[in-house]
Amino acid sequence: MDKSDTPSTGETQAQRAALDMTGDEFRQVGHKLVDDIASFLDDIDNRKVQSPDAVVIAQQVLGDEALPVRGSAASDIIDQISSLLLEKSLLTAHPRFWAYINGSASPIGALADMLAAAINPNLATWSVGPVASEIERQSVQWIAELLNYPRDAGGLLVSGGTIANITALLAARRALLGASIRQNGLQNGPVHQYRFYATPETHAWLEEAVDIMGFGESAITRVETDELLRMDTAHLSACIARDRQAGYVPLVVVASAGTVSTGAIDPINAIAEICTQEKLWFHIDGCYGAAAAVLTSAPDDLQHLGLADSIAMDAHKWLFVPLEAGCVLVKDKNHLIDTFAHQTGYYPVSDEQNPLPVGYRDQGVQTSRGFRALKVWMCLRQAGREGYVAMIGDNIDLAHRLAGLIGKTVDLDLRYHSLSIVTFRFNPGLEVLAEMVVADQSEPDANGLLNRINQNILKKLQAEGWAYPSHAHIGNEFLIRVCITNFRSSTRDIDLLPAKVVDIGRSLI
Ligand SMILES: *Cc1c(COP(=O)(O)O)cnc(C)c1O
Repeated sequence: MDKSDTPSTGETQAQRAALDMTGDEFRQVGHKLVDDIASFLDDIDNRKVQSPDAVVIAQQVLGDEALPVRGSAASDIIDQISSLLLEKSLLTAHPRFWAYINGSASPIGALADMLAAAINPNLATWSVGPVASEIERQSVQWIAELLNYPRDAGGLLVSGGTIANITALLAARRALLGASIRQNGLQNGPVHQYRFYATPETHAWLEEAVDIMGFGESAITRVETDELLRMDTAHLSACIARDRQAGYVPLVVVASAGTVSTGAIDPINAIAEICTQEKLWFHIDGCYGAAAAVLTSAPDDLQHLGLADSIAMDAHKWLFVPLEAGCVLVKDKNHLIDTFAHQTGYYPVSDEQNPLPVGYRDQGVQTSRGFRALKVWMCLRQAGREGYVAMIGDNIDLAHRLAGLIGKTVDLDLRYHSLSIVTFRFNPGLEVLAEMVVADQSEPDANGLLNRINQNILKKLQAEGWAYPSHAHIGNEFLIRVCITNFRSSTRDIDLLPAKVVDIGRSLI
């Protein structure tokens, strides 16, 4: 029975509320939207990855009017805004979107978000979101299994990698410094100078974490890297010894399982050994690369993520879940509860006869929590382990193929290649550069000139809209960077890129 037309007895419901919709209205508008999204996805290969006029057009369409006094029909609003979004967005779902580390989002994730919003459970406690909390618990467990991390580890979903890493370090802080840290913070007690160890290749979340936690950025001791930008463990040991001698208190070593610029994997096994000897907390930032642990062919260090006390990973990167979805795993689940549990008067206490699991509000920073678990769960369920092995394996194969092609292309220099990231630059050779340096007095050195040329190549490539790589700064070099976390990319897409870059490069010199 369609209840929407049932006459209401309540006075305030005599007229339908401004945001309510009948089932028929919802069906009509919803079906049209689903049709539009389906056509968009079918046709995405023929579209430009980027529309250079996106901001200008968006400003024109949105206009500059004040908040509308009167509302509008849902169908008009959705028509207007969906065509703007589908036509003018930077298309991260495009087969040749290879920028930053941004997974192509699975269509089932879009459907999951719609269902999640319709139910709108609050995953603060098991009592408010009973079914949804069970779905989050299973999602986290499946992610742990995918990473070869203990399946009984603690963990929860958060907005992304930054918060996942910060959550893990807060748990480390509580575990290492004891319960008094929650009462007194860093204000009282013996004033220690604590230290965190990481390479300069570590993502910038670490600066944010030590800042927010009250340690300050000077608490980071930077460990040197080898020629492949991986942590030099001999230098790590030396740093720890030197810091101890100077009276500092080492707390945490942060390793990257896939750095953001080049995909470098720190030597997990060796770092774990040092952490055990030195009694330090071992945290792994696996936001990008940890998912590749699902491959039996994964580099040896990726197969030992279980050695870490905590790990952060991003489901919205290589698990192809739509933004936002990060996951933090902590081996001993009590550490999360010790760090975040609070007594309040406004949440139901667990029934002693029938105890519920500790809710996620008591295991992380957030109180009210949305149902991001549904899209994670549906992706894991749709692809299964085999699906991820195939998709992630293909991305790595494509990067390998691209690195091979670049290596064989005259005028391109391959720089770094790990997992699915390849960095390189256009370089027309010393003779051409020497002539250009003579002609261009504003750029007296060849490297500076190369940086500028490659910046302009990237700009042109992005503006043309055929493909969309991004860049990396390594040492004093500006490099073009391709990161393939995209299940729509194929050899056809990859094979044309080197020649395109060379063509643009030659046209610019
Ligand atoms: C993406 C990324 C982060 C940050 O994750 P967000 O989801 O953007 O907050 C941290 N570390 C690494 C290695 C990453 O790739």
